[in-house]
Order: sequence, then C-alpha cells, then structure tokens
Amino acid sequence: MTIKAKPERKPLISLQNIQKHYGEYHALRGINLEIGEGEFFSLLGPSGCGKTTLLRTIAGFEDIDSGSVMLAGKDMMGVPANKRPTNMVFQSYAIFPHLTVAENVAFGLRKSPLSKVEKAEAAEAALNMVGLSGYGNRAAHALSGGQRQRVALARALVLKPKVLLLDEPLSALDRKMREQMQVELIKLQREVGITFILVTHDQEEALVMSDRIAVMFEGEIAQCDDPEVLYRRPKTKRVADFIGVMNFLPATCRHEGGKKIVNIVGLGETEITEEQCPEGFPEGAATVGFRPETLTILYEGQTPTHREAPAMIEEVVYYGDMTYYDVKFDGVDTPVRLSMRNLFGRDVLEVGTRARISWSPGALVVFG
Ligand code: ATP
Repeated sequence: MTIKAKPERKPLISLQNIQKHYGEYHALRGINLEIGEGEFFSLLGPSGCGKTTLLRTIAGFEDIDSGSVMLAGKDMMGVPANKRPTNMVFQSYAIFPHLTVAENVAFGLRKSPLSKVEKAEAAEAALNMVGLSGYGNRAAHALSGGQRQRVALARALVLKPKVLLLDEPLSALDRKMREQMQVELIKLQREVGITFILVTHDQEEALVMSDRIAVMFEGEIAQCDDPEVLYRRPKTKRVADFIGVMNFLPATCRHEGGKKIVNIVGLGETEITEEQCPEGFPEGAATVGFRPETLTILYEGQTPTHREAPAMIEEVVYYGDMTYYDVKFDGVDTPVRLSMRNLFGRDVLEVGTRARISWSPGALVVFG
C-alpha cells in the first residue's frame, strides 16, 4: 500500500514498489511512498537500513531492480541525475578549498547557459538565502564548518531544484553548531518553499526538523507520520524504541462488557482506548509502553493527577535542567526510566529513596 502525501499537499514525488539488491543483499524491499510539494521530509533509521540508497534512487545515482520514480508528474526512468529536478547536498562538504565562496557556488552553474554576470548574480542570491551575503570573495578554506555547510547548501540551491536532497548534512558539526544549523535549515526551507528530503540516523534531528518522518528498518518503511504522532503513537515496539526512550512492562489484556482492560505488572488494571493499541487490541499477553516524561515523582503533600504506584529509586542521572531516575515499581523486576524537570526549590532525590510515582493511563501504548 502506498503511503500517500498529506491531503493538503500536492504529491511531488511518487515512488512505486522500489526494489534494489546489492548482489545478494536486498537493500530496498518494496518502497511505496509519496512526498508532497514543499514538504520537509526525513528518512530516519539505523545504519544500513537503506536510507541513503533511497535518497540516491530519487537523485538518479542508483540503478534499481524494479519500480518507478515519478518526479513532478514525470517518469524518471532513464533520466540521468543532472537532468532531474533534484539536487543533492553531500555529507562531506565537497567544496573546493582553493576557490572563493562565489566560485564554489557558481560551480553548480558551470553547465548553465546563463551569462557570466547572470551566474554571479545567481550565486550572490543563493549566498543571500543561506545568510552568507557579502562572503563571495572569501577563500573557501578560511570558513568555519558551519559556513562551509552553508556554501554547500547555496551551491545546491543556485540551480533552483524542485527537491533538495540532504544526506546527513550536519553530522560533521559539533552539537551547538548542529542545533543552530537545524533551525536555519527549517527557516531556509520555509523561505524557499521547495521540498527537502533529509537522511539522518539522529532521531532528535528528525523530530525537530520534519513535517513527516519515514522510519526505515532493513529496506522497508516501518512507519511514516508527523513527528508528534510518531513519538506519541508508535505503531510497533521497534519504532517506539528507536524514537526516544520508551519503557516497556509486561501486561495482560481482556475485554469486559465492551471495554478494553489492561492489567500491567506492578501497576494494576486500567481501561484503554482503541487508539492506544496501534496493532489492534491484543487479548492475553501484551506489552505496555510509556515515555519517561509521562511518569512523575510525587513530592510530599502532592496528590496524583492520575494513578499512583509505590517504587524505589535505583539510579539518578542529573542533567542540570532535568533529572532522569530509574525506578523499580514494587513487585516489578525491570526498572523504568522517568524524567523530571528540575524546578526551582525541588530537591533531586537520592538512590534508595522510596517514592510515590504518578502514571497516566492515557499516555500508555499497548503492543501485541
Ligand atoms: P548509513 O546511515 O550507515 O549510511 P543507510 O541506511 O544510509 O546507512 P545504505 O547506505 O542505503 O544505508 O545501505 C544499505 C545497505 O546496502 C547496507 O547494508 C550497505 O552495506 C549496503 N550497500 C550500500 N551501498 C552498497 C554498494 N555500493 N555495494 C554493496 N552494498 C552496498
């Protein structure tokens, strides 16, 4: 079944049953996906899941075994990479250190029929887009990592592609610079309005930047959704575990007079709704998943807003703004992780402290 573009977006890219082998290895196993006009789309997954191969397939750098790639309504079969309305920004910056910034950007236009003056103007316009206006005459080797990344972006944008393909463009930057470039990339994408497809193995990066994310495992799309849906309603345990931290506890499920009841080891019984069971309501043994921030330690005098269970604090990790606690509910062997904001005046609790934990039945996800 094809994963459709959102109804409010015109489909720009349509991939039908893409199959790709490298020798014996089945790298892409039937990808059926639409990506919309002006969408910021991410391909997310562990190393080797096929995300770069899929990106290169869209770009025209890979020969596929079968399937079709349509871009802006045209079949791309036999259309070489340089004739496609796409452009790629590579992982390694691949900018020429001996050229100036402007020459690097204009390099993208070397085969264009534009005049020299027009090329210079186009290069300056692209540099302006990435916040490097006035840097044209600088030597490329004299730039910082972040600035070099921007030059690489400008070089890809100067050709005015319909789709910009980004393969881990920020992976070489340090954390601060990466976070800054993430925000700049989102802004840039909104300004230019073209479709961006980002390959990343960094789930935080995908959550921050994307309109939609496709999570891939072993050459297949396991789930494709908005960041919030993906985080709150992962369809499988594997997706849940890959996106952020998810605690799992064993449970049993049963119907009772039209109600769906789960009995969670250590926490007791609660009713759940249809949408909390992405794989359908499993009767009998099941697993319940919940995020660390859906659990709260109750301080003295606090009453739970949801349900309450006693536990022991087993591990404390202090992060300045947050503290992570690993706690064991009474009668449960596996510790679960919870996160608390360090509000002013609130003590960080010590290992070995008994605590009351508030948990919210509405935040649970039940897997078969
Ligand atoms: P990473 O994040 O590590 O780049 P990825 O998800 O982008 O991983 P791909 O580069 O698409 O993964 O590779 C998918 C699989 O295909 C991997 O197992 C890889 O080893 C294999 N593969 C990729 N390119 C080739 C090639 N040219 N020849 C043989 N096998 C390849």
